[in-house]
Amino acid sequence: MNKTTFLYEGKAKKLYDTADPNMVIVVYKDDATAFNAQKKGTIIDKGIYNNKITEIIYKKLASEGIPTHFVQRLNDREQVCKKVQIIPLEIIIRNFIAGSLAKTLKIEEGKEIDTPILELCYKKDELGDPMINGTHVIALKLATAEDLKTIYDLAHKINTILQKFFIDRDIILVDLKMEFGKLPNGEIILADEISPDTCRLWDKTTKHKLDKDRFRRDLGDIESAYQEVYKRLQ
Ligand code: 5GP
Repeated sequence: MNKTTFLYEGKAKKLYDTADPNMVIVVYKDDATAFNAQKKGTIIDKGIYNNKITEIIYKKLASEGIPTHFVQRLNDREQVCKKVQIIPLEIIIRNFIAGSLAKTLKIEEGKEIDTPILELCYKKDELGDPMINGTHVIALKLATAEDLKTIYDLAHKINTILQKFFIDRDIILVDLKMEFGKLPNGEIILADEISPDTCRLWDKTTKHKLDKDRFRRDLGDIESAYQEVYKRLQ
């Protein structure tokens, strides 16, 4: 399958149409951004690792019955995905306190939570992806109540599957961000990447960070963190 028309360039990926109207090709870049693109940089070969890590994770999720947009990886940086209409929401699930939640509630990073926390953010760069709740989503017609129920159910299932998948590889899934899309038949499926760009991943024993926080917080050894996650998932 080949790229035809260029569709869209995001912060970490480019999207192209293909000859099949139901399929797109996603190209993973090495560009890294943080804090609503105020911080910009490059993580060498990040695109290659995130493409391959996303493939492994999506295959695992599909094997557990999660509907996803992933079709096949084409090469180091490209994958074929089903074309969806993205629902403009970021669904975040947290298993430990970290990041913006630690900052907002002034709770020390690293505290484990008994029941996963689910947060919704409105995907709108100009606004800095503000946190909203389910009633905003329904009132603003970003999704229906029924869609939201499906999204919550899928998000919790994905978190449960991935927590186990990662811990079996000595990695703690601290939190993750998911996006969902709609197929032309109305079915809601998991879309976008799941990678160290979109999850917090800590080594189980040392709590060493193996994710994009190394870039956000200038912690160094960024490339080796992405490589390490890929190595452990293989
Ligand atoms: P926080 O709200 O603590 O900054 O992020 C929670 C989780 O969601 C982290 O795993 C983080 O990587 C992910 N996340 C939240 N917003 C974004 C975003 O705009 N882009 C990416 N790549 N990940 C995000």
